[in-house]
Amino acid sequence: MTITARAAARLRAGHVWVYKSDISKVEQAGPGALVSVRDERGRGLGTALYSNSSQIAVRIISRDSVSADELRELIAGRVAAAIDYRKQVVRNSDAFRVVFSEADFLPGLIVDKYNDVLALQILTQSMDARELRDTVVAELVREFQPAGIIERVDARIRELEQLPPREGGQLQGAKSSTVFSMNGVRFRYEGLGGQKTGAFLDQRENYAAAERYAHGRALDVFTYQGGFALHLARVCDEVVGVDASREALEVAEQNAKLNGRDMDWLEANAFDLLKDYSEAGEQYDTIALDPPAFAKLKRAAEGAVRGYKELNLRALKMLKPGGILVTCSCSHHVSEADFLEMVGAAAADAKRSIRILEKRVQAQDHPVLLNVPETLYLKCLICRVS
Ligand code: SAH
Repeated sequence: MTITARAAARLRAGHVWVYKSDISKVEQAGPGALVSVRDERGRGLGTALYSNSSQIAVRIISRDSVSADELRELIAGRVAAAIDYRKQVVRNSDAFRVVFSEADFLPGLIVDKYNDVLALQILTQSMDARELRDTVVAELVREFQPAGIIERVDARIRELEQLPPREGGQLQGAKSSTVFSMNGVRFRYEGLGGQKTGAFLDQRENYAAAERYAHGRALDVFTYQGGFALHLARVCDEVVGVDASREALEVAEQNAKLNGRDMDWLEANAFDLLKDYSEAGEQYDTIALDPPAFAKLKRAAEGAVRGYKELNLRALKMLKPGGILVTCSCSHHVSEADFLEMVGAAAADAKRSIRILEKRVQAQDHPVLLNVPETLYLKCLICRVS
């Protein structure tokens, strides 16, 4: 593949993607093919995995030349290296992300570990190839000897990648559900069947950080299956978890029981609830806000910031002096600078001043590559409000 000067400069600066519109000469290459990449003067830039349907047409797998025969070995080595890295950074948890796509130099592959069950996700044409799937599974079995490996399938991603439809299911072993623990808090995992569960593993370190400051009366808004709430319950007098999804709250309640906690879960729209509570003069010592990615696309970022601000403004109004606000954004398109500015503006409008106790990102098992900005997506601020 020959790519434009702009795309070549981007690769030389350490990025790993080339967009479809930056390919100046398309070679004959089938979906998912291994291709060599060069600039318009013919200078080699490395070897990449090609997709003929994605906007991200080329994903660099190596800066050197790699043959099809060498690819399997390269992938196996990368999986082993990803596992090695987790041994260094994951503490006090039997659940973590084992492989995170580009951030582990394995574009299109995600593997999560929930205690003795592994969940695999394939996001690109190349990684869907039989030999690569087999290589990855063999390496995971060798390293972890899991009781089961399941595949999770996102039908929309397969459609976008023009891959044949495929059902999620058991790839290895027989086990697909289990109980896992993060920071000593236990959670249910259901990989297949009825009500699927899973966890936002990227918040693992932020749960523990929030717990260090949380106290008194606490509200966990967008609680999902109780991630922050169950951690806060260890140090707060009273915790209520709020979510719009009844199914998520049912699992949260089961998780509470697993931990021997008696807690309240409230099914509500967060925007309405925070408006009602703040107007009614409700007061809290600790509030966690972890909304979904309002901005999936760049052009939605402005609207997302307005949404985040509304939530933060309401929460700030309800916090007692000395209260703790844990506020997150998982939209990559809302930068850390935008996020800080938004929280600052919300504080000014609420006539409160806030100190930053901790400015955090996603847990270290979701690595951030400095030269691939898209790998940094989660922001988490822990503030003290006066
Ligand atoms: N804090 C959670 C993850 C939150 S994910 C954890 O640590 O595990 C976002 C959650 O927001 C989802 O559970 C979704 O059901 C919920 N949600 C989305 N829109 C909502 C709304 N308007 N009001 C309340 N909950 C909402």
